[in-house]
Amino acid sequence: MHNKEGTSVAKNGNGKTALLARLAVELTRLAQGRDPKLDYLLEQLRHSLHESASSSDFKNSAARFLKYIVSGHVEFASGFELSIQKTAVDLFTAIEACFPGVKQVSTLKEELLLASSLQETIEQVEKVIPVLLDIRVIASGSTSDAETGLSSGFATSTQGESSLAQILDIISPALSQLLDQLNLLEPDDDRVNSVRNDLVRIASMDELETVLGEALGLVVDVTRQIDQEREYTEQFLTQLRLHLKSLEEGIGESIDFEASLQNVNKIQTEVGSEVEGIESAVNENVDLDLLKQIVRTRVERLSTKVADYVASEKQQLEAAKDKIGELTLQTQAMNNEVESLRHQLIEKQQVLAMDTLTGVANRGGFDRRIEEELARSQRIGFPLSLLLIDVDKFKFVNDTFGHKAGDKVLQTVAKLMSARLRETDFIARYGGDEFVILLPGTSADDSQAVAQGFCDAVKRCGFHSQGQSVDVSLSIGIAQMQEGDTSEALFERADAAMYKVKDKGRDGYAIASPA
Ligand code: GH3
Ligand code: MG
Repeated sequence: MHNKEGTSVAKNGNGKTALLARLAVELTRLAQGRDPKLDYLLEQLRHSLHESASSSDFKNSAARFLKYIVSGHVEFASGFELSIQKTAVDLFTAIEACFPGVKQVSTLKEELLLASSLQETIEQVEKVIPVLLDIRVIASGSTSDAETGLSSGFATSTQGESSLAQILDIISPALSQLLDQLNLLEPDDDRVNSVRNDLVRIASMDELETVLGEALGLVVDVTRQIDQEREYTEQFLTQLRLHLKSLEEGIGESIDFEASLQNVNKIQTEVGSEVEGIESAVNENVDLDLLKQIVRTRVERLSTKVADYVASEKQQLEAAKDKIGELTLQTQAMNNEVESLRHQLIEKQQVLAMDTLTGVANRGGFDRRIEEELARSQRIGFPLSLLLIDVDKFKFVNDTFGHKAGDKVLQTVAKLMSARLRETDFIARYGGDEFVILLPGTSADDSQAVAQGFCDAVKRCGFHSQGQSVDVSLSIGIAQMQEGDTSEALFERADAAMYKVKDKGRDGYAIASPA
């Protein structure tokens, strides 16, 4: 009888719609872009809260929305595992390069690549520490290969200062990167700086092993801490879901009470006017005493009944309103906490997805973004190009002008390229002297101008170190997304095109041939 089809839902102005509207807004801010299904349901809900929507639309979309929220399927995932795993893999790769014969390192790296949880990543990092101890024993020459079962390769054959320098050359960048990342994650942890100080003072294999052990121990600690934070987040979200469930029930009850309040008011008015009518009729027929008596008795009985009914309905309604009020306060508190938690998560995710040297995204960030861009471009049928950029003869820059000058070159190249990109483009440092760029909405043909622009800008900028000019040029491979492409296939085509440029003498770009 109330809330007829076509009646404006928003105009009802009752507690349930206001509450749901606010919840829809809060959840949109919390989850937007992370869970497509939730985005869709929120959109529907917002639409149904509109003036013109019918109440059955509202009920349906609210029911679907709440059902999904309490189902526990909402995705608020974070990228912690991936970033920590990648940093550890980089370090293992550096250790592997120094001790190519030590099979345990390669095996542990393989296992690390397969780790599917933070716990498994920690386990692999913990396992490499005793292996390093074995490497030190081999390097110091006190144990034979036959006894340890290890083939020591590089380490045994090149002992002494020069081999240590070579090893440090490979391990230091990976270790510094790891320390940078740990420092960003846990800026108050003094151990990071103490390991960093030890790193520059390494003078023997013993010390190298100790510093590596300390650094890996730190990874284990920091990762555990992050795991705990994530556990807290999950507990919190579980709590939020339970809360939403009770909210859903509360809203369900309030819908009936709202209706019955209007019922009561109507009955009260109708009965009231009837009573007045009877009373005046009775008063007009002054001679009929008996009639008066009967009618009066009836009226009294009717009034008492209605009053009782109204009182009990009102009591129930007050209780329901109190409940809604209480739920609203709880929701507000929860929403505030969600907001601050979301901020913390976003901050840490951004830190973890950033390359500390150049300030552009790192490989972890790229791995996530390419999947999104690929899916989007495939869905809307727009072109997507991937540019793979490698600095030419970069080892020469490092060897001639030093690592610091090399770092400066990487920072400048990243800055020059970033400045030439559009807001929707995406740049990441893929590793070492390699960068990768995604150009949504741009074909391979149109990407040529971008690539040429990079080559020219780098040449024009005129690097200098120790008073000498440093020649820097780029080799760029361009690949355009094809139907049914995977991120790996797209990347590999750009990589092959980049190598073609290297083969032809570097400094330029090439478009990948279609698969
Ligand atoms: P090519 O033209 O074939 O690319 O020659 P290249 O010398 O550039 O060879 P490559 O790309 O394989 O060399 C990459 C070098 O980048 C090797 C490594 O020592 C150096 N490198 C990796 N990361 C860093 C870093 O963070 N800073 C500095 N300065 N050098 C780095
Ligand atoms: Mg290079």
